[in-house]
Amino acid sequence: MKFISTRGNAERVDSAYAIKTGLAKDGGLFMPESIPTLTYAELDEMMELSYEERAAKIISKFLSDYTYDEILEDARAAYAKEKFGASPAPVVKVEDGLYILELWHGPTSAFKDMALQIMPRLFTRALKKCGEDRCAMILVATSGDTGKAALEGYRDVSGTKIKVFYPVHGVSKVQKLQMQTQEGKNVSVDAIEGNFDDAQNGVKRIFSDENIRKELDGRGVFLSSANSINWGRLVPQIVYYVSAYLDMVSSGEIKMGEKIDVAVPTGNFGNIFAAYIGKLMGMPFEKFICASNINNVLTDFLRTGTYDKNRTFHQTVSPSMDILISSNLERFLYTLIGTKKTAEYMNELNTEGRYTLTKEELALVRESFIGYYTSEEQTAATIKETYEKSNCLIDTHTAVAVFAAKSYIKDYKAERKILTASTASPFKFAKDVYRSLTGTDPSGDTEALAELSSLTGVGIPAPLASLAEREVLHKNVIGKDEMESSVLSFAEN
Ligand SMILES: *Cc1c(COP(=O)(O)O)cnc(C)c1O
Repeated sequence: MKFISTRGNAERVDSAYAIKTGLAKDGGLFMPESIPTLTYAELDEMMELSYEERAAKIISKFLSDYTYDEILEDARAAYAKEKFGASPAPVVKVEDGLYILELWHGPTSAFKDMALQIMPRLFTRALKKCGEDRCAMILVATSGDTGKAALEGYRDVSGTKIKVFYPVHGVSKVQKLQMQTQEGKNVSVDAIEGNFDDAQNGVKRIFSDENIRKELDGRGVFLSSANSINWGRLVPQIVYYVSAYLDMVSSGEIKMGEKIDVAVPTGNFGNIFAAYIGKLMGMPFEKFICASNINNVLTDFLRTGTYDKNRTFHQTVSPSMDILISSNLERFLYTLIGTKKTAEYMNELNTEGRYTLTKEELALVRESFIGYYTSEEQTAATIKETYEKSNCLIDTHTAVAVFAAKSYIKDYKAERKILTASTASPFKFAKDVYRSLTGTDPSGDTEALAELSSLTGVGIPAPLASLAEREVLHKNVIGKDEMESSVLSFAEN
């Protein structure tokens, strides 16, 4: 299977090349030329398989220049019991009709591990397949969870270096500590004086800077991304939606073929788009509930057809969704309206910060997607209610989606069952979860972990439990115009 750019002005490439480079030459994102299908016969067969085997089946449909055995080996290593426990992505029933898919049982307690534990393995294979002998420097802009998950995924992976930029005031204390204490010989972490979009724009700028490319090349280094714009990040995310559906069939919650809706707490639009690809492959997913916090650019887009990033940026209790530009939306647009219109809209977004779909295009979008946003108060109230009524402890991001799912049920008298992505352990955002439950502050950011645990009787995930004792190794804070020089000096060592 070949991959092409969403903007239509780059060459057709193999998946290894798409994964190696991340971004297409024309600034677009890579997409498979066609979407492979999943038949009910295949789904029936997959019922008996482990998560790793399901992953290999699905991923190999897209990565045809990898062998099935290569992908299976990587999936086994990525989703090993020592990293994810017995079940990498369990489905938990919250109440009748409402289920959450827990995607945070990996090493960093957030859903990005689902992709970032396997992606570096696919990536090193990609380097070999492309005959690449330079060192890859992975650049990541993060609003919190990606950074840690990427650091953990790439640490000490030979042939790679990883550099992470995060907004100095845009991540939680726990997220910051997770990154600051990261070990590994090939890692570097900088805090940026700015917000997530400053960090992301800086990374995009560096990627398109020809001088930097030449300088790095002279040092035997080239740039690549681990952000959700990389196809290697997206493809493993399709797996858990398919797998969760099979698990729901197998536990008798639904019948094979029964339609369900999917709710996803959305930032960059990667996770929800992976679910949508599942639908394009043939999964009976009907509606996608796109849940945002008060950074509700996507809600407005889905309601009006205008995407307008010219608005106030809010810092919220769900920082991984504090985003004004949802990069993966470009992929979704491409699937609906093709390369030419997508390139035009992306160009408008670049120059004017906004674009407006035609009525017909908006109608197409709304066939599958519906947007809701959740205020900070509603997020807190949802955490409390879900805990008190259903004995289910959820984090701030998951709460945004649970609120959206419930609003949708109310507004549309929805009868299909809803699978809601649960994207972080409540302990990763312990302070705000504690405050939501009790109305009072815990004694400190890191103390919040133990206090939340004793309040609820729920155990702290092991990697978070030891955080306070670890040594802080990365303290750099730099201006947003210093990102270039930081990259160049990291290439030296
Ligand atoms: C990254 C992240 C999201 C947003 O996912 P996207 O793929 O960017 O839409 C939601 N919740 C958590 C906890 C995250 O880390």
